[in-house]
Amino acid sequence: MRKVQILIPLLLALSCQVSAKPPLAIAIHGGAGTILKEKMSEETEAAVRAKLGEATNAGYAVLERGGASMDAVIAAIKILEDSPLFNAGHGAVYTYDGKHELDASLMDGATLEAGAVTGVRHIGNPIDLARLVMTESPHVMLMGEGAEAFARSQGMVMVDNEIFNTERAHQSLLKAREKLKEQEALGKDYQAQVNELPPAYLYGTVGAVALDANGNLSAGTSTGGMTAKRYGRIGDAPIIGAGTWADNASCAVSATGHGEYFIRYHVAADICSRVKYQGIPAAKAAEHVIQDVLLPAGGTGGVIVLDALGNISMSFNTAGMYRASRSSSSALETGIYKQN
Ligand code: ASP
Repeated sequence: MRKVQILIPLLLALSCQVSAKPPLAIAIHGGAGTILKEKMSEETEAAVRAKLGEATNAGYAVLERGGASMDAVIAAIKILEDSPLFNAGHGAVYTYDGKHELDASLMDGATLEAGAVTGVRHIGNPIDLARLVMTESPHVMLMGEGAEAFARSQGMVMVDNEIFNTERAHQSLLKAREKLKEQEALGKDYQAQVNELPPAYLYGTVGAVALDANGNLSAGTSTGGMTAKRYGRIGDAPIIGAGTWADNASCAVSATGHGEYFIRYHVAADICSRVKYQGIPAAKAAEHVIQDVLLPAGGTGGVIVLDALGNISMSFNTAGMYRASRSSSSALETGIYKQN
């Protein structure tokens, strides 16, 4: 009898330990913007949802195998970079001069190590190069030709800039250039010309955040930036703290939207700082920054956020945001519009 008395609490304790598996979670985005159901064909919507699901599942499979959140983030982002549906890698928007200049960044929430590249033209998956900058260089951010020389030194294969071409992004460039020239003919300066561009020309970035079985958070973002960008313009996506942030002590964030505002308001790091220093839930911090800080200032876009307990939240102040998530407590979900 005495043995049974000891054995039962022991078994109960053990079974509690077994069921208290660490949470796993991943969330991704494929850009925010004027995404309206009435303007989207059924085929495009189905294709976007399928690709978002594929990327999320690929990242989640890494987590389920016991892989690191950084690997999950990269696996998901590479699928989106390789898809012509999003403004990153293949499908990236065009610069004013008809090229593609790609930006990407990554951050490891366990070590606060980070890597970023900006203005690269010949790297098939810029997120892979961001990782090499983080792990194989003493730097955080490399740009343009220098970044590509570093990539070659690491054995990365260079690709032609044309492989990122898509008809959709080219049509956007032609329209954007026409609008800019109209404004120029009216005597407007460069700033006024760009301000007249409809917001649709600013969006489409991809990103991911993940939490692994060791409780480590990671975040990453990859983009072609803004349609018809000139003069080496750089948005928030490669800037640590603006477009990407991860810290196990607070949260992981990847942003998409009008990059200039995300830089000035240091959006990704600001959300996590509020979690860390104000002790508020990540969802509340994100909603406050996106709706009450960014929007009144004129900044549009959104974020995906994940905390160290696996709570996923997504905030955006645009009509829609391509997004998806999966965790050990929730099945795959994809969303495009305000109400999914
Ligand atoms: N944030 C990106 C940029 O400003 C654009 C985007 O999110 O689509 O370059």
